[in-house]
Amino acid sequence: MASAYETVIGLEIHAQLPTKSKLFCGCSTHFGQESNTHICPVCLGLPGALPVLNAQALRFAVRAALALGLEINRKSIFDRKNYFYPDLPKGYQISQMDLPYCERGEVEIEVKGKKKKVGVTRIHMEEDAGKNVHGVGGDSAVDLNRAGTPLIEIVSEPDMRSSAEAAAYMRQVRDILLFVGVNDGNLEEGSFRCDANVSIRPRGQKEFGTRVELKNINSFRFVQKAIDVEVARQKRLLDAADTVRQETRGYDSENQRTYPLRSKEDAHDYRYFPDPDLPPVLISDEMLRKEEESLPELPDQVAARLAEGKVAAEAISTLTQHPGYIRFVDAAVAAAGGELPLKKVANFVVTEVLRGASTHGLGSTFTVSPPQVGELLSLVEAGKISGKQAKEVFALLENTEKMPAAVVAEKGLEVVSDTGELETILQGLIEKNPSQVEGLKGGKTKLMGFFVGQAMKATKGSADPRVVTDLLKKLLEL
Ligand code: ADP
Ligand code: ZN
Ligand code: MG
Repeated sequence: MASAYETVIGLEIHAQLPTKSKLFCGCSTHFGQESNTHICPVCLGLPGALPVLNAQALRFAVRAALALGLEINRKSIFDRKNYFYPDLPKGYQISQMDLPYCERGEVEIEVKGKKKKVGVTRIHMEEDAGKNVHGVGGDSAVDLNRAGTPLIEIVSEPDMRSSAEAAAYMRQVRDILLFVGVNDGNLEEGSFRCDANVSIRPRGQKEFGTRVELKNINSFRFVQKAIDVEVARQKRLLDAADTVRQETRGYDSENQRTYPLRSKEDAHDYRYFPDPDLPPVLISDEMLRKEEESLPELPDQVAARLAEGKVAAEAISTLTQHPGYIRFVDAAVAAAGGELPLKKVANFVVTEVLRGASTHGLGSTFTVSPPQVGELLSLVEAGKISGKQAKEVFALLENTEKMPAAVVAEKGLEVVSDTGELETILQGLIEKNPSQVEGLKGGKTKLMGFFVGQAMKATKGSADPRVVTDLLKKLLEL
């Protein structure tokens, strides 16, 4: 039975931009360091210190907007969002309120084969806060290494209608940002997190219900679970003729419940006003053009290109898990002079190369280089080694600088395409298998596989199947 209520969800995603330095000062954004070692008068909020916008952060932010299809505001304003909290040394956070740097976009998601567009209201730039650390010698302390780290906040329209759609949207945004290189996609480390706004309404009702904001969710699984338990709570309230209070709640994954953090009554009045220390942000034609021209392929575009190259769906879903994978495939094709079929390289990367690969944020490492793989697969294409031998050679290349052709020569691995030797082998096979010969002559072309297999066995896998086929046809006058 369909539920009497409809769920409405809007997400606010915070994504960290991967700059080396902070948004308004030169301090390093490198984390996991000793507390309060990456700080200066600007990010400490000392009187008289002046913020200066990090140009690289702005470029990353613009790239994110282009990737998510938002319209750029050529002029935007930084505002002060005032509130008191120990991890906020200035007493305000620099953010964007009335005039963000971009607005109006959409992201396509797919849930159970059904496609749908989710509106993106706006994205604005802002700085992260520091971190309160509890239990420091029985006290609480503040680590300001993170204060001033550049973030973008991506605000969606209340367009999602299920927790599965919310998780799909979160995943899609994460993948897009990762592929264009503006976020490391690391949910565990908090560089990509979201607040989920959730309400329900009787089916058919036009007005939205009262929403609850679920704070700081940092996993795709949790976003789905947190919304599910919150929706169940709201249904119980409405079914009991009670009301949903507008409030901010946290998600307790251990006990599968949400709990109140603060109600609307104690909501902050942020007293936003333009930051007088920062001039309006101007995005020039040139900057916009450069970012548009250099915008990397989005995950869906990569998937479409691979599908066009007849790469199987499973390999596509593997290769679109990290931008480093498709970069490797493309570099291997390019290293071989662009002659190799995309499909062959893609398959080899999925079955062999990725076994020894690893990713860390935006980076990826491999046990071989694209030129090694390009040359190796070129040898296969040219019939110099068999596919089976390619795997053996691959194992010899891993974690070395050696090139495949040299390894093949050194190990004497070249395929037997010496037709004299093959001819002798094939003559023997023809004599031993008269019924298969008859069948083949009678048009059972499948039997070609039998002879190729036998020839491979006789040569311990070093025969070139194409040479075997050609030679057999000649011998049998097919
Ligand atoms: P605020 O200014 O209080 O942050 P916004 O209007 O900016 O509120 O909305 C914040 C987020 O909440 C947006 O992602 C929006 O889509 C979502 N949202 C707004 N109203 C509802 C609602 N009734 N149910 C679910 N989500 C909502
Ligand atoms: Zn600083
Ligand atoms: Mg908001």
